[in-house]
Amino acid sequence: MAVSGQQSAAADLASLIRDARSVVALTGAGISVPSGIPDFRTPGTGLWENVDPMEVAHIDAFHRDTRRFWQFYRPRFAQLGEKAPNAAHEALAELEARGMLDAVITQNIDRLHAKAGSQKVIEVHGSIATSSCTTCHASYALEAVGALFGEDGIAACTSCRGKVKPDVVLFGELLPEAAMEEAQRLCAAADLLLCVGSSLEVFPVAGLPELTLAAGGRMAIVTQGRTPYDDRADVRLDGDVVADLSAVLAAL
Ligand code: ZN
Repeated sequence: MAVSGQQSAAADLASLIRDARSVVALTGAGISVPSGIPDFRTPGTGLWENVDPMEVAHIDAFHRDTRRFWQFYRPRFAQLGEKAPNAAHEALAELEARGMLDAVITQNIDRLHAKAGSQKVIEVHGSIATSSCTTCHASYALEAVGALFGEDGIAACTSCRGKVKPDVVLFGELLPEAAMEEAQRLCAAADLLLCVGSSLEVFPVAGLPELTLAAGGRMAIVTQGRTPYDDRADVRLDGDVVADLSAVLAAL
């Protein structure tokens, strides 16, 4: 055959997108790896290499040792804030602009979908865009948080002096209810769920494709490595996420 497997899979995915009435994307860490943001599950490149996530990224740890929490997160948020979207984020924004994609549901907190131009983004794990006072719920933009730190290394609310926490979902916290409900509604209504860069292993997000499939929709997977849904996907691409989505866009 003249056409490689990857190329024909990209063409198959393009035709699924063309034929679908409602396409929704579900993205995870893998889409941001080409932007220089490591997937914390990848050995050797992980965010958690020298630290136990439960020791810093748990809501109990935030309350118990807020100074240590911020010591860990402050530089990481600063780094995340400087990252730029890559061609995979841009491909999804382009699909939406062409009227071929209804929404992006993401597990990522890095804001790169919005930076790439995606309009409808559901951030089910929250985002670094804002932080909130845990006492009075006052909201602070990322750029304003730096000014909240006192000499004790803790970000304090300017109106009530309560502890300010980033609006990202920590271990031990529930996912934002409104965002999850919106994600569930979109997945149940989609006739194609396009899963990109997610191992689909972390619940409750890992249960979302089930809603699409149960309603008679299809799913496509563009992810390196195996997922629990591989056998149920109509199309599976497991090369480089940028190359794969660029190929799909070119085939449309
Ligand atoms: Zn407050």
